[in-house]
Amino acid sequence: KQGFPYWIMIYSNYVPHILKGNLRGIDVYEGQGGYQQLKNCMEMKPEHIVDTVKRSGLRGRGGAGFPTGLKWSFIAKPEGKPRYLACNGDESEPGTFKDRQIFEQNPHLLIEGCLIAAYALGLTACYIYIRGEYLKWIKMVEKAVAEAYQKKYVGKNILGSGFSTEIIIHRGAGAYICGEETGLINSIEGKRPYPRIKPPFPAQVGLWGCPTIINNVETLSNIPVIMQLGAEAYSKIGAPDHPGPLLYGISGHVNKPGVYELPTGMKITDLIHDVAGGVKDGKKVKAVIPGGSSMPILRGDQLDGVTMNTDSLKKAGTLIGTAGLIVMDEDTDIVEVVGRLSHFYHHESCGQCTPCREGTGWVELIYQKFLRNEATKRDIDLLLDICRQMEGKTICALADGAAWAYKFSIERFREEYEKHCQGNELQPGEWDYKTKA
Ligand code: NAD
Ligand code: SF4
Repeated sequence: KQGFPYWIMIYSNYVPHILKGNLRGIDVYEGQGGYQQLKNCMEMKPEHIVDTVKRSGLRGRGGAGFPTGLKWSFIAKPEGKPRYLACNGDESEPGTFKDRQIFEQNPHLLIEGCLIAAYALGLTACYIYIRGEYLKWIKMVEKAVAEAYQKKYVGKNILGSGFSTEIIIHRGAGAYICGEETGLINSIEGKRPYPRIKPPFPAQVGLWGCPTIINNVETLSNIPVIMQLGAEAYSKIGAPDHPGPLLYGISGHVNKPGVYELPTGMKITDLIHDVAGGVKDGKKVKAVIPGGSSMPILRGDQLDGVTMNTDSLKKAGTLIGTAGLIVMDEDTDIVEVVGRLSHFYHHESCGQCTPCREGTGWVELIYQKFLRNEATKRDIDLLLDICRQMEGKTICALADGAAWAYKFSIERFREEYEKHCQGNELQPGEWDYKTKA
């Protein structure tokens, strides 16, 4: 959005940073020690690199938080088949806008991370999949990759090591589901981005039937940082159960929305009040979604002491997701917010699974009824019933994310739904014609 203010704050207690000024040009990047970790890694045994990433405790930054080193160690090594890396830069989760900051400010850090992963896992090629709407950032990354080829960091016989790998930029197909890892595989292969049933996981059967590691942009950008600091020092940054620097994307009713680089484990209240300048017009926080729209919503009065790491958020009844915090003030109509999300999930459902295709459609209609103030309390239970029929019954996590958005908002803000039902009580057995909306 034009004129959207971006405030980039960097926590200065560790070196190096993910977002450190503008390191877009390769000369500037090299001038600050860039590509040194790749050179160092090429002197190491590949297993040592995988082991270092495992010991660092790095968890994926794309939403699921899966341990990266463990994922790497799952890669199958079938005789005579190539192996691939797919870097997931599709970031389409509402409230998530941090990977584009890496594309813009530090694309060579991402490229170096991809190359270290490729060397450690013996990969033939890396596909960097970038959200289709990110045209500006696609051009930036393309330029950076061309520079890296020119300097012989990518291609045949990299830096005379005998190791070769290619980097290919793939423009996304403009749908949320392209970011689901198996949808992304189909999209790169030139097919419709329909998610595939797992298992087999991509680490066994991925691109063109070959083992493929799929990591998020921010995850791969952490790899050179880990190699520079060492596993132990890295694992001491932030929260022990979810260590490292983290890009917090803070949006909504705060005075300074933006992407902030800070250690994991920050208190949500500090992020809102100290980092993002507090709530607009001094209002109170009504709700926060901590990690992109699919993560369970928290009430403002649930936030005390909750920190941005797996354990603390689990205790509070939510998940870290992409660390994209959406902050809502006391005047927000939660039903309206979730109603908008219901349109998003319905629009983005790929339609393969009946509970998702039909469920998201019916839910959107029911939310429209709430927003016309024509719903009855029975519709609240109807929504919960549809959620039960969607959750855990589909090929991919889109339906789960959608069901969580509806279900937790009802559990935690039922009174808001009831407000939209006032004066609309049904008599027992009465035909609720409005459901047909
Ligand atoms: P998941 O938990 O199913 O898997 C996480 C990763 O671990 C995957 O790469 C998977 O292949 C791997 N994995 C898990 N078990 C494995 C095994 N036994 N062997 C090999 N590999 C294994 O989660 P997911 O469906 O990949 O992702 C869902 C998350 O994506 C949601 O939590 C949501 O936050 C996030 N999301 C992010 C965005 C975004 O814009 N960044 C968009 C939509 C959703
Ligand atoms: Fe498609 Fe929804 Fe099924 Fe995912 S859950 S595969 S988006 S229909």
